[in-house]
Amino acid sequence: MNKLAQLDHRFVWHPFTQMREWLKREPVVIVAGKGAVLHDVHGREYLDANSSIWTNLHGHNHPRINAAIQRQLKKIAHSSALGLANEPVSILARELVAAANHEIYDLRYTIYESYAKPPRKSQIVNRKLTKVFFSDDGSTALEVALKLAHEFTRRTRVKPVGRAASRAAKPKFLSLEGAYHGDTVGAVSLGHIGLFHKSYSGLLFKTDKVMSPYCYRCPFNRAKPERADAREYRKCNWECVGLAEKKFATQRRKGNPYAAFVFEPLIQGAAGMIPQPRGWLRRVTEIARRHGALLIADEVMTGFGRASSVAAVCDRRTLQQKFSDGHRPPLQQQLFACQHEGVQPDFLCLAKGLTGGYLPMAATLTTQKVFDAFLGEYGEFKTFFHGHSYTANQLGAAAALASLDILQGKQSIRARQKLEKHLHDELQTLWSLPNVGDIRQVGLITGVELVRDWRTREPFDLRERAGIRACEAMARRGVLTRPIGNVIVLMPPYCTTPVQVQKMVRAVFDSVREIFGKL
Ligand code: PMP
Repeated sequence: MNKLAQLDHRFVWHPFTQMREWLKREPVVIVAGKGAVLHDVHGREYLDANSSIWTNLHGHNHPRINAAIQRQLKKIAHSSALGLANEPVSILARELVAAANHEIYDLRYTIYESYAKPPRKSQIVNRKLTKVFFSDDGSTALEVALKLAHEFTRRTRVKPVGRAASRAAKPKFLSLEGAYHGDTVGAVSLGHIGLFHKSYSGLLFKTDKVMSPYCYRCPFNRAKPERADAREYRKCNWECVGLAEKKFATQRRKGNPYAAFVFEPLIQGAAGMIPQPRGWLRRVTEIARRHGALLIADEVMTGFGRASSVAAVCDRRTLQQKFSDGHRPPLQQQLFACQHEGVQPDFLCLAKGLTGGYLPMAATLTTQKVFDAFLGEYGEFKTFFHGHSYTANQLGAAAALASLDILQGKQSIRARQKLEKHLHDELQTLWSLPNVGDIRQVGLITGVELVRDWRTREPFDLRERAGIRACEAMARRGVLTRPIGNVIVLMPPYCTTPVQVQKMVRAVFDSVREIFGKL
């Protein structure tokens, strides 16, 4: 075994990994990367098909991000944000605010096509995101939103009297079934994945959950399985939206309306790549607003163009029309999934792709109204008492600025649109596999759900490790990704070429064929 692999086995404990299994075989030790390719210590090459756990945007070793970090490094690597401002972070905050409040009305291919009446401009402008609180990763971005929403609610809510008073003192949060918002205790409290979260229940505070629109396995979907994304052929009456309405109304009747609704827009990641049918986000967030809840959008996965312009258009026919010959989709500038449905949250949580996948850095954007609730004389102690040592790190900010610049360039936008189409086209080949039940694509995020038989949708028992085995077989074919249960994830870096996309999907095809003969 390679020396570095030996050291790893001896000293390292890996996240979300059964270490007994890990210790049975030599790990892949990565020593270099370029574009969508990772190189291991033996000189083998792999495609990074999940963008290094959804963080990488433009590929590894990108010359512009490298140069930006090097330029910054010549000045300073880090100075504290507790008591000091710094150069790249001031600029980055401005850029993030600009991107988060980007006007969406003049784009032809947005969700508004399907709405007779788009929301009034003032409805969105009034909730502009104007302030940025930096932290270190996705979990901390959520912790910040959670604490701010909690405290904002306590400070601004009209205080009831009598018995309702004690209940109202405790702001309550609602998130989605299957939610995953990180691994710190607050973020775990917002989560609803039994496998990850149950054992910590003694540490957590209670939050409520509401049905998420998992069309493929929805009990209200009366449609028989088809060889298409379940959102396209589902037969239902939006019962999931009705249940959300009921949930908000019931909690309000109890005299303690939800302080905030926490959600991943357009697609839930760790829940199993669960995409939302078009219009769901708009509807449910409108309900939440009507019942006085703040909106916390977790765009840790979906942000920075991962869920691109065509993402909102989930039906295949429209997708094909948009890409048909000579019909170029418009350059889309929307970097955040919420913008595809005209949803302006009160908190926008960003991490992963913020630095292009280079360095750990996160941001929680919020409104002036929330910010103002923390203003006061020193002695009033209204300060937001929260912050981490490496918050607003200069190297991270320099990488983030370079990444944003690349993202907003025409070349990158066009490349993403083309990549999305290539991925879409290649994925169609997987429908011929009887063990592929659902293929779900939102922008450059894909989940392929494996089942025992597509006609019955019967799932594999997790102990059969169907997803893991498929991904191990893909690794043998030079394609690296991690499954979520029975769902294979494909999330290529934006620089992935058509040939590389083909290789990724081909690896899924061949691996699924290989392992299902043996199960
Ligand atoms: N929110 C979402 C939607 C995520 O996907 C993740 C991580 N997969 C997190 C939060 C937590 O981010 P981190 O791992 O950077 O703490």
